[in-house]
Amino acid sequence: MIKDLKQFVPSSVCLKCDGCCRFKESDSRWRPYIAAKEMKEAAHPNLTDKIFGKHVVGPDSRINTTPCGFGADAEGHLCHFLNPKDNTCGIYHARPFECQLYPFLLSRESGKAVLYVHLNCPHVQEHWNDQGYKEYAQYLQEFFKRKDVVSFLKENPSLLADYSAFRNELDQVCTLSLE
Ligand code: SF4
Repeated sequence: MIKDLKQFVPSSVCLKCDGCCRFKESDSRWRPYIAAKEMKEAAHPNLTDKIFGKHVVGPDSRINTTPCGFGADAEGHLCHFLNPKDNTCGIYHARPFECQLYPFLLSRESGKAVLYVHLNCPHVQEHWNDQGYKEYAQYLQEFFKRKDVVSFLKENPSLLADYSAFRNELDQVCTLSLE
């Protein structure tokens, strides 16, 4: 389980934002994927089934949602672990790798791994291409060369998903070699 990924967006900013962990559809592609290893290591062995039971994680290994009713159309869905009152995550210290990586994400295109940044994140909009962003992007490129990280991605190919439908919301950071 990868636990030492530095964060681009400070927690204090995330806790004031009501963008993340909320989805338009109950089966949204943006629900976080959680690897079997992450579930196992996140919970006490005797509690794993209770915390990550079938109603919590879908057959696609993505965390399920609960209907909440937000936005103009009063429809919407929350990650099972989100507390919408204070934007905290119930499994923050064991949250899936995809949650740690966001607002960056991985895609597989024509056999290549591509690292994108999601331009919908307000912190990205504010800092996109400033020095801190450039340094973090450089850090990520080095991070994805680590053997343990490459192994984790190879074991979990679903982490490199198809985001082509959202291409206008993404900016490519770099391509990655996962060999
Ligand atoms: S697991 Fe936590 S950080 Fe990830 S989407 Fe759910 S509430 Fe958000």
